[in-house]
Order: sequence, then structure tokens, then C-alpha cells
Amino acid sequence: MGAVIALENVHKVYDTGEVKVPALRGMSLRIDPGEFVAIVGASGSGKTTLMNIIGFLDRPTSGHYWFDGKDVSQFDRVARAKLRNEKLGFVFQGFNLLKRYTAVENVELPLIYAGISARERRRRAMEKLALVGLSDRANHMPSQLSGGQQQRVAIARSLINNPQVLLADEPTGNLDSKTGAEILAEFQRLNHDLGQTIVLITHEPSIAAAAPRLVTVRDGVIASDVVHRPTLSEVDDHHPKAAEPYAAPHVNGAARELVPVVH
Ligand code: ADP
Ligand code: MG
Repeated sequence: MGAVIALENVHKVYDTGEVKVPALRGMSLRIDPGEFVAIVGASGSGKTTLMNIIGFLDRPTSGHYWFDGKDVSQFDRVARAKLRNEKLGFVFQGFNLLKRYTAVENVELPLIYAGISARERRRRAMEKLALVGLSDRANHMPSQLSGGQQQRVAIARSLINNPQVLLADEPTGNLDSKTGAEILAEFQRLNHDLGQTIVLITHEPSIAAAAPRLVTVRDGVIASDVVHRPTLSEVDDHHPKAAEPYAAPHVNGAARELVPVVH
């Protein structure tokens, strides 16, 4: 299967009038369907610029962006907005729920402009709330929910269009570490059970370490790209043969084999 996201030698230069700021300096990245990729890097390294391009909010100054096999590099604003609505789901640090709407109404919102009947909107929204374990909170207002529950509502909302890719920008940034771990577990479950492709930006080492693939951005280029394959002990005990290609020295039961990705 082909990559769902493929960037090839992408440059992004911000032209402020006085100076030109090279934010991305030749970035190439392939993400396959079903991957869970964490992106880390120091402040100013280009993470948000990269996310804006991947998320169709901005376009490269040069280079190519293929989404699902189609070159979308030079799509205009309208075409990009359409793609964004149809193909992507977004989760942000601040949840971005509307305060005067209930949980289920917040999840429904993206469907309102799609001309879908109220009844069908409600059915789909309830389905997504069930997915994140919040069926019993459907009629709560955001203020009646904990931070973790609000973020799960936001995740349900991001999934309402069955997006090909879920993009999350610091999704645990506003949460305590225990709640952050719960949200991480939610992403892991969506990735594992539904095969949901996830690209997540984070500053938190514990979140980054848990992702199966870790991309580090530095000065507008990819400094490292590592796939953490499970060791024998982490793979289904009932099918040890299937795990053999991944077997690595067993250390502390949590060892991971680090495999650099070649671009
Ligand atoms: P990060 O998200 O990793 O902190 P950014 O992608 O926001 O990094 O920024 C990368 C570089 O581009 C930085 O040097 C930043 O100052 C610059 N930059 C980002 N956005 C703009 C903009 N709209 N105009 C000019 N420079 C920008
Ligand atoms: Mg940023």
C-alpha cells in the first residue's frame, strides 16, 4: 500500500518583507496508513510549519506533498479547505469545545454544514462518543466534564468524518500527567483497534517514547526518524513465530529495538 502522506524535499520560507525565514529546509517524510507517528523538536525547529503543511493549512514554497497518492502541493485555499474537512481530523491542546453546546452537539458540529439530517448527525456523534467511552456524558456541558473527558470529546469530534489521518498538536499539553497518559492510551487504542493513522506533535518525552515511530525535527530538517518495533515479549504470546523477525535482546521486559528509517 502507498503512503498516505509523502513529503518530498519540502521547503517553506516565510517572507516577512524585511527578511526571509527558512522554516523547512528540504524535508522528506513518508507516513503509511495505520502508522502512529510522534513528532518532536525544540521550539522554533519547524514542527508547527510542518503540521500546517501536512494539515492543508499552508503550502510548501517548493517541493511536493502527496496525500493518498495525489500531489496537493499547490492546491489553493478552497481546495485545501475541502481536503481538510474530508480527509483529516484535528485535536488541539486547548480542546476547542464550544461552551454552550453539550458534548454530543460538539461532536456533531462538523456535520452541520455537510447537509446531513439531524437524526443521522446524532446517530454518528453518539457512535463516536461510545468509541471514546463517553456515551453516558453525551448531554453534559463541557464545564461539567474533566479535562481528560473534554479532550476525549474533542477526539470523538475529530473522528466524526472518519478521517484518513488524525493530526494532534500537543494534545496532552493542558493535562496533568496521569490524564495525559489516559489520552495517550486512547490514541494507542484507536491506532491499534481501528488502524487509525495518527500524527502527533508533542514536547513530552513520555508521550514521544510511547509512539511506535518517533520523528525529530531540527532546524527545519528531520534529524532522526526511528521506528520502535515491539520485542518478543510485547508481541502476542500465542503466536511466537510471528514475532521472530522482530526479536531483540530482552532487557527488563520493556526493551525496544530501534530501527532507523531510511528516506
Ligand atoms: P515550532 O513549532 O517547532 O516551534 P515553527 O514552525 O513555529 O516551529 O517555526 C519555525 C521557524 O519559522 C521559526 O524560526 C519561526 O520563528 C519561523 N516562523 C514561523 N511562523 C512564521 C511566520 N508566520 N512568519 C515568519 N516566520 C515564522
Ligand atoms: Mg509550534
